[in-house]
Amino acid sequence: MELQGHPLLRGDMPADPHDARRSNRDRLLRSIITRGPATRAELSRRTGLSRPTISVIANELLTTGLLMEGERVHSGGAPGTRLHLAKDTGVTIVVDLRDLSRLRMATVPASGEIATTTTVSVASGTQVLSEILAFSQRVEPAALLGVSLAVDEWVSAEGQWQGSPDRELGPELVEQLRKKLRLPVFTLTASKAIAVADLRDSPAGLTAQASLVLGNRLDMAITVGGRTWPGVRRPSGDIAHLVVGGDGPTCPICGRSCLQEQVRMLLTDSSADACDQAATALAAAVSPLVAGIELEEIVLAGFPDDVADTVATGLHGQLADRLMPHLVPTVRISLRGENGLLEGAAAMMLYRRLG
Ligand SMILES: [Zn+2]
Repeated sequence: MELQGHPLLRGDMPADPHDARRSNRDRLLRSIITRGPATRAELSRRTGLSRPTISVIANELLTTGLLMEGERVHSGGAPGTRLHLAKDTGVTIVVDLRDLSRLRMATVPASGEIATTTTVSVASGTQVLSEILAFSQRVEPAALLGVSLAVDEWVSAEGQWQGSPDRELGPELVEQLRKKLRLPVFTLTASKAIAVADLRDSPAGLTAQASLVLGNRLDMAITVGGRTWPGVRRPSGDIAHLVVGGDGPTCPICGRSCLQEQVRMLLTDSSADACDQAATALAAAVSPLVAGIELEEIVLAGFPDDVADTVATGLHGQLADRLMPHLVPTVRISLRGENGLLEGAAAMMLYRRLG
């Protein structure tokens, strides 16, 4: 695969000043979309761009009407106004396609706050299409920005949903929605959407973080410089079937007692032993990644409430045992709950449309 000009690399290594300006503009927009409105000083801290650079880009985006000046606040001593996306930017329809017996749909305006949600149970792929079309009628057609579908399967760096052989849903749903609605329709992997939403609660200026997402499977979503890393030839963060020692149930997919099986035990067993075993297995899998790609924060998402704290504390302790002190990341629990996926998928739509 030709990597030069690859969507993952675009803008990260600007070749000429025009590209550098575009890259800086993307960083500023991405920061407001994924982490919320901010003053120019806050944007400088978040992105690492200088204050004068931020001011120049902000003025351009204010002139074109993409950004608006918001409330006046004091952030770190200096007063400033918060910049936010223009309110008429449009509404995204987000669909959580992980479980057809619990198909969740939401409308999300440019503020990123979920406006309406509904949950339905469907029996077939055809019914998914009609449910999404019916839901889309809640929004004035002119105000619709597009549809963002969060799926359990891998979506490549080019945005190609790989679909799943044992489910009837796949890329043809995207095509049908595009035809019927005449709007952009994007897919992204659910764990990546959750990781994007988790960025809102992370400290400014982190280089890289990862969300460990427990659902039907265990997934790791890595975010570098505020953008998720989907993987080029195969899914990134695919740590589920690592063999990391420890005894657990045999995995039906890999035939061994892999990381996923040892962590999924937490869904039915909240004992201290189960938490300890899961934390140990996670630390064994994640510690080389922490050291190798400078992960500064690990977020646990989708872990049952009665075990999340214990696993987070245990994982942090295990990482401290395995890593040099300056490498030990913070470990926290996702604050986004079940809305994280919807918020993150909406943010990705905004970024793709505006970035
Ligand atoms: Zn396995």
